[in-house]
Amino acid sequence: MATQQSPAPPGPTPDECSIRVISRVRPLNSSEEKVGSKFILKFPTDDSININGKLFIFDKILQPNVSQEDVYNTTAKTIVADVLAGYNGTIFAYGQTSSGKTHTMEGVLGDSKMQGIIPRIIADIFNYIYQMDENLEFHIKVSYFEIYMDKIKDLLDISKTNLSVHEDKNKVTYVKGATERFVSSPEEVMEAIEEGKSNRHVAVTNMNEHSSRSHSVFLINVKQEHLETEKKLNGKLYLVDLAGSEKVSKTGAEGAVLDEAKNINKSLSALGNVISALADGNKSHVPYRDSKLTRILQESLGGNARTTIVICCSPASYNESETKSTLMFGQRAKTIKNSVKVNEELTADEWKRRYEKEKEKNGKLKTWVQKLEAELKAWRSGQSVTSEEQIDMKASITSIESEGLEVAPTVMESSIGNLSTITEAEKTQWDGERIKLYAQLDEKDDEINNTSQMIERLKEQMMEQEELISSGKKDYDVLQQEMARIQTDNESAKDEVKEVLQALEELAMNYDQKSQEVDAKNIENEALAEELSKKTNSLNALQSDYDSTKDSVSHQKKRMADMMSGLLKDLGDIGEIVGGGDSKSLLGTSEKLEEEFTVARLYISRMKSEVKSLVTRSQNFETSSTEVNKKLETAVKELSDCQLTIQQHEAKMSSLNETIKDIDHKKRLLQENVDSLNEEIAKLRAQEQIHITEKEKVKSDADMTSALEQQMEVHRESHQKQLSGLRDEIDNKQSLIDQLKEQNQKLSLALDKLQIDYDKLKAEESEKTAKLNELTLQIDRKEQARQDLKGLEETVAKELQTLHNLRKLFVQDLQNRVRKSQMKKDDDEDDDIGGNAAQKQKISFLENNLEQLTKVHKQLVRDNADLRCELPKLEKRLRATMERVKALEGALKEAKEGAMRDRKRYQHEVDRIKEAVRQKNLARRGHAAQIAKPIRPGQHPGGSPATGTGIRGGGGMAVNGPQ
Ligand code: ADP
Ligand code: MG
Repeated sequence: MATQQSPAPPGPTPDECSIRVISRVRPLNSSEEKVGSKFILKFPTDDSININGKLFIFDKILQPNVSQEDVYNTTAKTIVADVLAGYNGTIFAYGQTSSGKTHTMEGVLGDSKMQGIIPRIIADIFNYIYQMDENLEFHIKVSYFEIYMDKIKDLLDISKTNLSVHEDKNKVTYVKGATERFVSSPEEVMEAIEEGKSNRHVAVTNMNEHSSRSHSVFLINVKQEHLETEKKLNGKLYLVDLAGSEKVSKTGAEGAVLDEAKNINKSLSALGNVISALADGNKSHVPYRDSKLTRILQESLGGNARTTIVICCSPASYNESETKSTLMFGQRAKTIKNSVKVNEELTADEWKRRYEKEKEKNGKLKTWVQKLEAELKAWRSGQSVTSEEQIDMKASITSIESEGLEVAPTVMESSIGNLSTITEAEKTQWDGERIKLYAQLDEKDDEINNTSQMIERLKEQMMEQEELISSGKKDYDVLQQEMARIQTDNESAKDEVKEVLQALEELAMNYDQKSQEVDAKNIENEALAEELSKKTNSLNALQSDYDSTKDSVSHQKKRMADMMSGLLKDLGDIGEIVGGGDSKSLLGTSEKLEEEFTVARLYISRMKSEVKSLVTRSQNFETSSTEVNKKLETAVKELSDCQLTIQQHEAKMSSLNETIKDIDHKKRLLQENVDSLNEEIAKLRAQEQIHITEKEKVKSDADMTSALEQQMEVHRESHQKQLSGLRDEIDNKQSLIDQLKEQNQKLSLALDKLQIDYDKLKAEESEKTAKLNELTLQIDRKEQARQDLKGLEETVAKELQTLHNLRKLFVQDLQNRVRKSQMKKDDDEDDDIGGNAAQKQKISFLENNLEQLTKVHKQLVRDNADLRCELPKLEKRLRATMERVKALEGALKEAKEGAMRDRKRYQHEVDRIKEAVRQKNLARRGHAAQIAKPIRPGQHPGGSPATGTGIRGGGGMAVNGPQ
């Protein structure tokens, strides 16, 4: 650091050394080849270059085929050793844009073959240190800045955009406030470079253009201390990639670009002027202060630094003039001589020795001055001094110098005296003034720096504000959209509600209709049920009728049987009577009579058997008739079944009934026929018998038989009559029964129908009740909604009321005020009617305003109520969103944790690797020098701790400055 450098005057004797100029020629690039540019450079020797017959001689020419490593070896390798020996060094690349400056200085970072000078120097410095004495402790720090439009921008801290250049007490220039980063490994240096490069890219749209218009300066400061001898050395190395040196006219720049170009060219022309001044040997005034670039490079150009300039050239014919001027620049720079010396900080002993030496020298000079004064006195007093007695100036100076004593030029000048035309007083005065002016200039620079930083901060703030505003606007827009969306939602919800209400009304109407229908149906149902009961009643009655008729029929039958048996008895009695009479009349008669009697008996018995057979026949008939009846009944049953199943069969049934009737009728006729035939048969038999008996018996018997026959005829006829009457009755009853059965059938059918109808109705009713339930539910809901609405309305009304009250209060207040002012005014000026009118107008205006406001408020309240209705929905949505957000947060947390774990693992791995590398380095170094990385407050914590080195105070991201 400049502050720790040894003061200039008592330092070691400086060596004169000229600036090394090396020219590097790149190959023709593809675009140059495309336009057919020719390679116009020739290399007669390895240190000369010929361009169209003009020869330039440099320290070395690097031809297009030279490798990056060779470039480094010839240009920069020696500088590493110099810097570590306490010398200052500078390497800068000069040339037009795309001539290969950056390629030379940086190359391809990270590519071992294509990397340029800077990364190779860094690696070499550390390799060097690793091989050095273990008693040496190193402090290495780097700065990185660019100069654009004559403003110094810190590339390691983008907030520093306009740094100023100052001089320390030894007149060594430095960039005030530039970030200095302490580094302990090549990786850290490369990191700083990467960071600086990425910062350079920030806020630059076209990097190529920018880099061709700006200078980039990388500064490595190596401080070393011998732990035993406490000898301290300090070497500074500037590595500069200059802006393109081309003329403005060629790039065709305009406006701001032209300004930039002028500025760049200003610093470059300042550089040219400085070099010209130095080349001309005019060291009294070198215009370093013309630009920041030249101020920074003040030490490198004509000062205390070993400087190497790499002149980068394009070989293309197209670039001939630029190449020529570049080569001329190099030619001029080559003549500059620097005086370099080791930057050594002396120990107390060293200082003591130096002091002794100075004292001795002083004494010698004093005696010399005395001698000179004596000689002068002699001369002035008019004596002449022989040439042998004269003091030999040169010899005495060299004798003093040979003793290792430095004679300052000022001392020389003063001792030589009035050789210069400017008086000493004048010179000191001017010097003082100049220093003052420079101090003022520096102050101004500082001020400029401060203000520019302030401007930068303000700009940042402004940007932030703008961002805030834009984000606010965005938010506003989003809210507006949300609002619009909510409003549309609201509208749609309103519509929905309307629809629902309509639907409800419809439903209510439907419900009413349905209930009416149900009522009607119920009434119908009741009527039907009544009818049904009536029918069942009648059916029951018919049933009972039927039973009674059945009873009567059976009764009749019984009676008939009784009658029959009675008849038979009667017949038997008759027979007996007939027999008895014969025996009484014939008791007293002869055997003839007896014979006759037996014949009669026989006859009677025959008659009896006849009667018996008749009875059995009648019985048979009866049973057959009952059977037929039974059959009829089954037929009727079947018929009824048929009736039940198919109504169509009714017709058939009736026809069948009719046929049955016919059959019955025929049967009866047949029966009657049979009866008549039987009678005839009986008659014929009786006649036959009578004939037989007539033939055998006497005439007297004929009367008796005729009487008997007559009696029998009478009996038979009555019997016949009775039978037919009974049969008729049976038929009648049967038909009645049939009719009744039919009726019964019909009724049961009707009953079934009714039952089905009833079931249907029941089902319908249950359906209706279900619907009713639904409707009642809906109505309930509606009621609830209505109540909610009512509540909202109430709140709105309340709010309105409060507003109204407020308004009233306001109006009252206003009126009071107006009245007061009015009174006041009246006091002041009784007839100020115009003012009154104005006030009234004002009041009315205010009232209008108020009314409008109330309206707006009402509207708002309504909106609010609507929105409140919307609120639960939104809340629900919100809840869902919150849940989602929670879920996402959880996921995020997990992801974060995962990332943290990964990071930790990664960090761990990195630490492990770093440790391993360090161990390796240590092993490689063995007992080598140490690199300390002191820690200071505010130091960048990213770096690894210095291992194996004493951590000393000071360092870090310190800002240099005169201390
Ligand atoms: P400058 O920094 O002077 O504007 P660059 O260093 O960016 O120019 O070089 C311009 C282009 O030419 C780059 O693509 C670079 O790789 C190429 N280049 C420069 N010098 C050489 C060289 N000696 N050999 C090969 N390519 C080169
Ligand atoms: Mg470049």
